[in-house]
Amino acid sequence: MERRVRLRFAPSPTGGLHMGGVRTALFCYLFAKKNNGDFILRIEDTDQTRYVNGAEEYIINALKWCGIEPNEGVGFGDGPHAPYRQSERKELGIYKKYAEQLIASGNAYYAFDTSEELDAMRKRLEAAKVVAPQYNSVTRQTMRNSLTLSEDEVKKLMDAGTPYVIRLKVPRNEEIRFHDIIRGWVVVNSTQVDDKVLLKSDGMPTYHLAHIVDDIEMEISHAVRGEEWLPSAPAHILIYRYLGLEEKMPLLAHLPLILKPDGNGKLSKRDKSGLPMFPLNWFDERTKESYVGYRESGFFPEAFINMLALLGWNPGGNQEIMSKEELINLFSFERVNKSGAKFDPEKTKWFNQQYLRAKSDSELATLFMPLLEEKLKGESQKSKKFIEGVCRLVKEKAHFITEFWDNAIYFFIAPTAYDAEVLKKRLNEQTIDFIKEVATAFNGLNNFTAAETETTFKATAEKLGLGAGQVMQLFRVSISGVGGGPALFEIVELLGKDEIVSRLNTFMEKNKI
Ligand code: GLU
Repeated sequence: MERRVRLRFAPSPTGGLHMGGVRTALFCYLFAKKNNGDFILRIEDTDQTRYVNGAEEYIINALKWCGIEPNEGVGFGDGPHAPYRQSERKELGIYKKYAEQLIASGNAYYAFDTSEELDAMRKRLEAAKVVAPQYNSVTRQTMRNSLTLSEDEVKKLMDAGTPYVIRLKVPRNEEIRFHDIIRGWVVVNSTQVDDKVLLKSDGMPTYHLAHIVDDIEMEISHAVRGEEWLPSAPAHILIYRYLGLEEKMPLLAHLPLILKPDGNGKLSKRDKSGLPMFPLNWFDERTKESYVGYRESGFFPEAFINMLALLGWNPGGNQEIMSKEELINLFSFERVNKSGAKFDPEKTKWFNQQYLRAKSDSELATLFMPLLEEKLKGESQKSKKFIEGVCRLVKEKAHFITEFWDNAIYFFIAPTAYDAEVLKKRLNEQTIDFIKEVATAFNGLNNFTAAETETTFKATAEKLGLGAGQVMQLFRVSISGVGGGPALFEIVELLGKDEIVSRLNTFMEKNKI
């Protein structure tokens, strides 16, 4: 029988969710949706020492902003497998139950070694030039555990309340084979696998045991995670095998790394490319570091996830701008690359620009209005239609709505200063005469459109024996203060006759020759 498609995103609340984490969640989401399956948020908080306040809430808000909402899990409503936080699931007794099952079948054991004893072992191995010192099938024979101690001794230690952990008994020199949807068959010799701790001395499971128990209990069909987990996969395979639950094992997919823009190593959360590494603003309480978010930098969530989806996934074809529905339709793990994907800051901005351009002027105006309100504090009461007109003119050059204001100030506030370079080059008796003439001519116009004003402008220049090129930029400066911007006569039409004439008069006042 085909399994129901159920994918979980299982972050640990040890910090803000960075781009890489969001991409993992996104791929899980796309695959689940494509297959009419479930997307689950499970919080893996068994490592209490690394718990960071606010991280869980951040993860939930980030997924919401990105529009990749789980249909089951912490913050999104309980499904049939609640609770979805591992610290709460511990109370169900499931982790202990599975760990004891492994003990009973002889595939796990109790280990009583203190941290000093573990240190001493490491030092001993280092001195003997062992490359990767670890607790394994060889070293465990010299340590204090239920494999080396007699039953009596173990019982005594337990009765005395001596702290212990439960470790996986990894066989010596055995080939472990597993299939990864992205990487194909992977073969690892068990000598490279250590006897992982499954249950800690505080009774908390480690990630290795907890995620397996939960994947089984939650009937997860695909376990999708970052490449950094690939080295532990062989141990996980053994656990499923020893539990006799291989048929419940999810299919595995280990996603490629996201690399720095120059391809030199893994993208870090302190990357200096100038673009955010986090979806939302994040303040790390422990390190007191703050990070800017994509949201706060003016990115559209659709542009952000479109960009992220293509970091490591190649749907084939040339189309790059894809709606969430299109991403869902096209997505497959088979088309995820094995090798790392370079983060491209310029391309990331380009995505936002494409989404910005695709929006109607009315949508843009709605998005721009709160910013305007903040800047103008209600001082300039312009109609929505006027603001739409401004958006139409300034959007061409912008990547973000947040850039609109800088390029649109003069639509709302008449200039009080004028580009000095242009004045130096273009201001003279003749050109100021022109400004005067054109102000008069504009004043007489009944139909103050871009076309009409342009014709009048050119006729006036001709009348005075001037080429349009000699006065064009000066005129622009006189009405906007700046030497560049969108189509000049579009600006003129939008500002309207009264405003233009008044600005030209002010300009003449201030620039008497
Ligand atoms: N808690 C793990 C993490 O933070 C989850 C890994 C997995 O998905 O199995 O990455």
